Amino acid sequence: MTSIDFFGGVDEIGGNKIRIEGKNESFFFDFGMAFSKANDFLSEFLQPRKANGILDFVALGLLPCIKGIYREDYLRHVGLSYPKEPSVDGVLISHSHVDHVAYVHHLREDIPIYLSNESYLILKALEDTGASSFSEYLHLKKSFQIEPKKRGEGHKRATGIRVERDIRIVEPYKEFEIGEFSIKAAPVDHSLPGASAFISKTDEDTIVYTGDLRFHGRNPELTHKFVEEAKKANPTILISEGTRIDKNENVSEEEIEKRAFTEVTNCKGLVLVNYPVRDLDRLLTFYKVAQDTDRKLVISLKQAYILNLFEDSGNDYPKLSDVMIYKPRKGWGLLGSDNYACVEDEWLCADDINAEESLRDYKKWEREFLEYDNILTYKDLQENPQDYIFRCDFFELKELIDIKPSNGVYIKSSTEPFDEQMEINEAKVRKWLELFNLPLLNEGFHASGHANGQEILDMIRDINPEKVYPVHTIHKNKFKELSKDGIKVIYPTLSI
Ligand SMILES: [Zn+2]
Repeated sequence: MTSIDFFGGVDEIGGNKIRIEGKNESFFFDFGMAFSKANDFLSEFLQPRKANGILDFVALGLLPCIKGIYREDYLRHVGLSYPKEPSVDGVLISHSHVDHVAYVHHLREDIPIYLSNESYLILKALEDTGASSFSEYLHLKKSFQIEPKKRGEGHKRATGIRVERDIRIVEPYKEFEIGEFSIKAAPVDHSLPGASAFISKTDEDTIVYTGDLRFHGRNPELTHKFVEEAKKANPTILISEGTRIDKNENVSEEEIEKRAFTEVTNCKGLVLVNYPVRDLDRLLTFYKVAQDTDRKLVISLKQAYILNLFEDSGNDYPKLSDVMIYKPRKGWGLLGSDNYACVEDEWLCADDINAEESLRDYKKWEREFLEYDNILTYKDLQENPQDYIFRCDFFELKELIDIKPSNGVYIKSSTEPFDEQMEINEAKVRKWLELFNLPLLNEGFHASGHANGQEILDMIRDINPEKVYPVHTIHKNKFKELSKDGIKVIYPTLSI
């Protein structure tokens, strides 16, 4: 009998860590962070200590106590033993949202990570451009190492002993094996590129895992094909997401596009929009709106980095050269004529200071983009506001001080706040918008990454498994009515 253990994703949205154990082999579906549980204990400046390896995470119930899965440096550092062999044979990543992938950071590097090429690219972007101290997904840097000094006596702390993880890119519907399990990745539509469901078979069981999915994005045919293939596989077990099982409406990308077109056409000044940085379908929506309204979409350096990675991935996202890239004032702000620096007793305007000096304000990965022709600054947005749609997220609100927009609007194209911290931040956004006289447009500008209740129930009836386990939901009881269709609904319990 295959056994299933849930170490997250039970009665909560996200944090999926689901272990499938066969006779000889085992693997995880996802290894994500449980947002709500993490937020119960932690905040921006109250974070687990690296000094305690995995133990702070374990103490807070964020990581399960399982032998043979965690990295050597974090275990040995706190005096725990490190088994020679890993106790699981793989982790299957459904997509690269943190609630499904964040805690890969803590895993040993010899556990194979299976994921789609797009999920790989998103993780690469997160790793290369992120500032978080627990974001080693594709590589890990061995911590707590002391080495002899190259010159002179004594020792020093070693930095940057980098080890590659065992990353395995999976192709759509191309079977791969983890011992007794034959597995296929099934691409599905979700609010970032590369999301996959999985269909896993052994002699005894066929298990289907939905990951996160929807039918109302730009690629619903992907999800429909998954449903068809899952049905054909005749599953004994379906592990299904149910984020919006209690909802019955959807907003589509096309509706957002239409609505935004009208608002942007009516706006005489700068249009600001906030949408999730890794949602490239949403970027495409606002890119199209910009094209149809004779404006240019202006994106951040971070989003430029992602778009650049996706340039050759065979998707229909815009090329980096089709959009404008915003160069913010950072560090000393040696950009244009607003800042001065003292050069050998003389205060010189940034324009008159060696350009190389200004580059020092930017991180290495940012500098490459600063050479591009399609770079612009607040001055361009100030001079010709009617020519642009400027993506401005929470952390970029300070740019408004430089841009000083007039006659503009702010379109909020992201999810409604669902926790206290998000509500606090939302209130801050409103204050900024008030300060700059920017009307807030937030009705019907966000398409969820998740199917609604009717769609989820229809999907499950269609796939017709023997048993269904609802995960990634706080409304599991809504699955109950499936028992009328002869499907056994099993509420998972947390093994942590
Ligand atoms: Zn999720």
